[in-house]
Amino acid sequence: METPLTHNISPGREPPDLAQYEKAGGYGALRKALGMAPAEIQAAVKESNLRGRGGAGFPTAQKWSFVPMGDDAPRPKYLVCNADEMEPGTFKDRMLLEGDPHQLIEGIIISAYAIQADVAYVFLRWAYKLAARRVERAIVEAYRHGYLGKNILGSAYSLEMHLHVSAGRYICGEETALLNALEGKRANPRAKPPYPQVSGLWGKPTIVNSVETLCNVPHIVKQGAEWFRSLSRSDDGGTKLYGASGRVKNPGLWELPMGTPLREILEEHAGGMRDGYQFRGVLPGGASTDFVTAEHLDVAMDFDSVQKAGSRLGTGTMIILDDKTCPVGMLLNLEHFFAQESCGWCTPCWSGLSWIEQILQDMEEGRGRASDLELLESHTRLLGPGHTFCALAPGAAEPLQSGLKYFRDDFERHIHEKRCPWSPT
Ligand code: NAD
Repeated sequence: METPLTHNISPGREPPDLAQYEKAGGYGALRKALGMAPAEIQAAVKESNLRGRGGAGFPTAQKWSFVPMGDDAPRPKYLVCNADEMEPGTFKDRMLLEGDPHQLIEGIIISAYAIQADVAYVFLRWAYKLAARRVERAIVEAYRHGYLGKNILGSAYSLEMHLHVSAGRYICGEETALLNALEGKRANPRAKPPYPQVSGLWGKPTIVNSVETLCNVPHIVKQGAEWFRSLSRSDDGGTKLYGASGRVKNPGLWELPMGTPLREILEEHAGGMRDGYQFRGVLPGGASTDFVTAEHLDVAMDFDSVQKAGSRLGTGTMIILDDKTCPVGMLLNLEHFFAQESCGWCTPCWSGLSWIEQILQDMEEGRGRASDLELLESHTRLLGPGHTFCALAPGAAEPLQSGLKYFRDDFERHIHEKRCPWSPT
């Protein structure tokens, strides 16, 4: 099968430099794009059914369509590449950043041209040091060869691009917190609406797209929307980077048709469970998604199908729970992360998450009470959508609410036995 996003990438090797990237056809899509009207590029992306790969799956062309166009549009306009990948279990953008930075830069330039942005930022996770060096080098090469700066490739279009290394907090990946961080403010989320498309960075129209989303754009422009849709096994176009971690034989990352069934990813690509371990459940899209269990193993891994199975595709990088791992301990670990990463801006999030963490900690250490289950359940409702400024707390509630549903016996055993049944003592 075709792997447009990863065909240039050999893990562990240096990424293609500019000359190698050009030799493989790189920047050909940009040349083509500059000969098209911005509206034609938006139409091709709409036709392709590309949905955002950061986790929420918002249709990319629809997002772009909210940006004011025309001579009277507010300036400057911005395009921000969200490379602040920090969802637990998620390491897909890292592969694209380290493995083929020019593909990302080409995607950013074409996308910026489609909305007529003046300035682009790559907002990169602090811990991705190798990616920072490689992206920086690729930006310099792109400037030197006329792909960035004034009058790109002799056209009327100009774009400046900057690499910004994040402060290293999970909340910096939330698009409005990210914009505050770029402005030099504390990374608290902003209320939406207004959405960044109309009032983003310094109050100007701004598109925030993720790395994987932007890497798809050159391929859509070059090979067409129909080709892109034909790569997929579902209504969402293209391929998807899927990952698996946990006690499988072959944990890793694969570019596969969008909509590849979960079972196929787990059994054929991840090699099935390691000997001596049984599958109990999986968080399909990073930590902030609901568990799905064996009854949903045949679900197609696309946005709508996973939602129908009671969870979300999220980042598509799954975390597998086995029968020798304590689900309460796993959830404690995840909720500790979310509590620690709460920005403290809204009370349900900072107070609710640290309370959840404390209850789970008590349960793991034998101090659980029968009333704790109801308390945890009520917290998952209080932290649900609409009660907080951003998706951090609702995301943190997802694995917990589904864990309480699917692994209730395990919670009850902790309370009745006054210890963690998985603990050796
Ligand atoms: P969201 O659904 O609020 O927004 C997604 C995108 O669509 C945003 O760019 C937003 O501006 C746009 N949008 C949504 N509704 C809109 C509207 N009515 N009008 C105009 N634009 C609109 O989700 P979010 O809070 O941006 O992201 C949450 C997701 O992020 C979760 O699904 C989670 O899986 C994922 N996530 C990923 C990472 C990572 O490392 N990749 C980290 C944390 C969370």
